[in-house]
Amino acid sequence: MKIAAIIVAAGRGNRAGGKIPKQLRLLGSRPIMAWSLAAFSRHAQIGPVILVVPEGEEEEYRARFPGAAAYIPGGESRQASVRNGLSAAIAPGDISHVMIHDAARPGVDEIIIDRLIAALDTHDGAAPALPVADALKRPSGQSVEDVDRTGLFRVQTPQAFRLDVILSALADAPDGMVDDLAVAQHAGARLTLVEGHERLGKVTYPEDFSRMQALLCPPVPRMGSGFDVHAFEPGDHVTLCGIEIAHTARLKGHSDADVGWHALTDAILGALGLGDIGDHFPPSDEQWRGAPSHIFLAEAMRLARAEGFELGNCDLTLICEAPKIKPHREAMRKRTAEVLGVDGARISVKATTTEALGFTGRREGIAAQAIAVLSPKVSSS
Ligand code: MG
Repeated sequence: MKIAAIIVAAGRGNRAGGKIPKQLRLLGSRPIMAWSLAAFSRHAQIGPVILVVPEGEEEEYRARFPGAAAYIPGGESRQASVRNGLSAAIAPGDISHVMIHDAARPGVDEIIIDRLIAALDTHDGAAPALPVADALKRPSGQSVEDVDRTGLFRVQTPQAFRLDVILSALADAPDGMVDDLAVAQHAGARLTLVEGHERLGKVTYPEDFSRMQALLCPPVPRMGSGFDVHAFEPGDHVTLCGIEIAHTARLKGHSDADVGWHALTDAILGALGLGDIGDHFPPSDEQWRGAPSHIFLAEAMRLARAEGFELGNCDLTLICEAPKIKPHREAMRKRTAEVLGVDGARISVKATTTEALGFTGRREGIAAQAIAVLSPKVSSS
């Protein structure tokens, strides 16, 4: 058995909204079309992968989706596009079977391909399908009537066939058949259904994108760490986590030198992969001279929310011999929670000394380290 895969992407996808065809829209980090191309390309039993693309855009697709065996222009209808793809599959002369797939179904995977290959041992064609679970109704006058769903399936793609069977079936098929399985059926082929999957759903309407996103690239929590040091200079107080504490020195810095919040800001930015506090608030920029650090922290949190995350929790450790942190811990925690806009239970502020060792031990400055976990926000759609 030598199998070619044909991915049909000739449509313009107007129903999915937006100006670019749905097969080019990003799902996760790659276009929808690239998902199917990758799945077929890495399957050991699939030979050439043929892309059927909008006419005149063959070179564009070749550049954007390298690795296919051929880039074939689509036709006037889906059936015509499949015919064009099959012509390319005949060319090598040794292909025995084909899988015909909609580019708008990014969830094809090895398991589905294996099921179809197994079915081709005993049948001329096969398609993945799922039983209809919802009640079916047909509007009738001022009411509705029930449609019996017993034995009904929703059919997906890829649909797999013996090459000679689908070629001769297509030659005889009337235009506008519902899918390739219908074409084979019309020709009297021996067909079967294999177990499909929700992941194989089609991206047709705008809301399908978020559903597919959740199925194929579920968001995972992100973690970041931050570390900061500020030196002491003559003064009478320090600002730590937004709380002013009387001391025999102050912290030197371009802003208010709130070493705790700087470490936490870096932890949040780190979890997002968005660089560090200096990238967002350059010390060379005069507008941040003496700035209160809640501006930095709040901005990092705003960026996190804009990227679809909420603070899971954070843990901040201040490292110094003095001043004593413990009496101020609860106030620091409360103020940090306010700036981040989260419940205080998600914030931990701790302190430690370095047993009189090192620069913090010599009371030359204060260090802080923080870890932040960002949780993906649960989508309301
Ligand atoms: Mg700093």
